[in-house]
Order: sequence, then structure tokens, then C-alpha cells
Amino acid sequence: MSEQIDRPGTRAIRSGLFKTDPPRLIGSACRDCGVHTFPAREFCPECGSEQVTPDVALAPTGRLYSFTTVRQAPPGRRTPYNLGYVDLDNDVRVMAQVEADPATLQIGMPLHLRIQTVGRQDDLDLIGYVFIPSDIDQEVPNE
Ligand SMILES: [Zn+2]
Repeated sequence: MSEQIDRPGTRAIRSGLFKTDPPRLIGSACRDCGVHTFPAREFCPECGSEQVTPDVALAPTGRLYSFTTVRQAPPGRRTPYNLGYVDLDNDVRVMAQVEADPATLQIGMPLHLRIQTVGRQDDLDLIGYVFIPSDIDQEVPNE
């Protein structure tokens, strides 16, 4: 269940990074070599082509490639929290917070995107994206 990002009192951490219905990160795709990027770019980092399609909804699921658990942070930031690289199912590697007990995280585990409140600034709830472990029954069979 995603939160509304356009309700009063909220603001996206940055515009153009994600949408909520359904929840997806927004990237770009190269029309020449097919590489996807996040955030969206005006050219392809792989082949240099400027023939890129903007506003591409990326896969909401992926696997944990790597992670670290942050145990010390500036004042106002709750710890511990996990930062991970997530390989989305359409081959984009995204850095994001991974919401889970650090002891349960495993390289390669399936994760999915969640849009949620990630902080507060200027009396507004900041809406951003995190990844959370996928339940076994949400896994796609024959993957
Ligand atoms: Zn390309």
C-alpha cells in the first residue's frame, strides 16, 4: 500500500524520481542499446546515444546486490538503517534504503519497491522510496 504523494503536507524528495499509482521508479531507456538508467538521463551512459526514452517506469522488484548497515548518523537520523544496491528486474542497479532487520538481509534476496514517508523537512512529510523484502508468496514462479 503506497502513500499519496500529492496530499497536503507532503513533498517528494525530488520530482521525477518515482510515481505512486502503481509505485514505480522513473528512469530512462536507450533506444539504441536498450540500457535502462535511474535516475533518468538525457544520454545513454553505456553507448553515448542521445536517443533515450524518458519517463520509463522501472520494474518494482529486484534482488539485493550489496548492502551496508549504518549505525552512526548525523543527529536527527534514526539508526541503524540499511543502504543497499538493488538490481531491478530490468537490469538497473539502484541505491536505496532497505527496510529490514539487518540480521535478515542476504545478498540476492528478493525485494520490492515501496513509496513512503522517509523524513520530515519544513513541516512537510518527505516522500521517497525504499525497498523491502518480498514475501515468499509474492515471488514470481519459475523466475
Ligand atoms: Zn545505449
